[in-house]
Amino acid sequence: MNMLDNHVHTTFSRDGKDPMEKVIKRGLDIGVTHLTFTDHMEYNTDGFSIDFEKYCKSIEELQWKYKNYINIYTGIEVGYQKHLKDEINNIINKYAFDFVLCSTHTVDKINVPDTMFFEGYSKEEVYRKYFTSILETVSEFKNFDTYGHLDYIVRYGNYENNKVIYKDYRDVLDALLKTIIESGKGIELNTSGIRYNLEAMHPNKNILQRYKELGGEIITVGSDSHQAKDICKDFYKAYDMLEFLDYKYVCMFKERNPVYISIEKSREGIVA
Ligand SMILES: [Zn+2]
Ligand SMILES: [Zn+2]
Repeated sequence: MNMLDNHVHTTFSRDGKDPMEKVIKRGLDIGVTHLTFTDHMEYNTDGFSIDFEKYCKSIEELQWKYKNYINIYTGIEVGYQKHLKDEINNIINKYAFDFVLCSTHTVDKINVPDTMFFEGYSKEEVYRKYFTSILETVSEFKNFDTYGHLDYIVRYGNYENNKVIYKDYRDVLDALLKTIIESGKGIELNTSGIRYNLEAMHPNKNILQRYKELGGEIITVGSDSHQAKDICKDFYKAYDMLEFLDYKYVCMFKERNPVYISIEKSREGIVA
């Protein structure tokens, strides 16, 4: 039986509510077999947001303590910003991460959740700006494994309908998906959209379908949980969607290498 969550925050993230051990205990309660911590590596005025030594050491201790019960992996969610490329690379290369999830939370030093990010643009312009920034990132930065919540911007726009209509951004979305695939990287299917009442996961079905059509195979499923109770939340919906689109496997990462696990196996133990 496999039940794996590849996107989990703890109190090592500023917005995380529960410490690692509480998250692990919740995992044991609901039958999670593989858990990858991906706390935020964000840059602010004080530098990077994590004490990496402490973070890796804590995971190591818990791996040891729970080794007979659950597999725990060391991941990181990198909030990529192009002016920090060298620093980000140095940190990723310095520590023994199993998994690097790359995400765009900030573009041109403005946080996407800020209303300022949207001011002065139409929906199409600002969405295009967001996707273009991801295209630039995946073109210049290859030190990641999967790309997080590709249509994260839908969480924050204030439109009648925030959904990404694929054909409106086909050129840039195709280019970024092709670059990810050609680089041997993958994408994430992030179930948090359901918890945010967006009626869809990230990315939406059309993007997932296009990724498959273009030859994409590497997908990690993550809850993006910021509290213990949300790990593996709505995973059965993610697996339903992937199977509907004819995906056969999901991935997890060990020492930065993908491990393919059949969806059939992954969904055993998932509580609906
Ligand atoms: Zn994120
Ligand atoms: Zn996250």
